[in-house]
Amino acid sequence: MKQKFAKFMYGRYGLDELSKFISYVSLLVLVVSMFLPQPAKMIVFIAAVLTLGNAYFRIFSKNFEKRRTENAKFLRFRQRIKDRFGLRRDMWKQRKEFRFFKCPSCKSVLRVPKGKGRIRIVCKKCGTAFEKKT
Ligand SMILES: [Zn+2]
Repeated sequence: MKQKFAKFMYGRYGLDELSKFISYVSLLVLVVSMFLPQPAKMIVFIAAVLTLGNAYFRIFSKNFEKRRTENAKFLRFRQRIKDRFGLRRDMWKQRKEFRFFKCPSCKSVLRVPKGKGRIRIVCKKCGTAFEKKT
């Protein structure tokens, strides 16, 4: 049985982070669908099953390049979200000593000490200067 499975999986892409994520989300939605009234129950259930099917399609796929590209895209996206949450956490921790401003031109977040009155802030990234009360 195990050997048969190994033979079947030979030359197939296998499990990656994106497929794991899709499986978790579709299973979660599947559970949620049980608590919904009809006809939403049926629609959400079918959507979840199709999504889960997509995860299996990816696992058994023989198109390695395409699956790798999708997974890389997903990992980049996930990292961006993680970074954003990390930044929010840091901002919250430092809220008593610092204020945070977004650069009006490049949108990067700048940290300045609190309670200095009106100051001129120069963006470290793009050099844009703007004034803010801290
Ligand atoms: Zn800037």
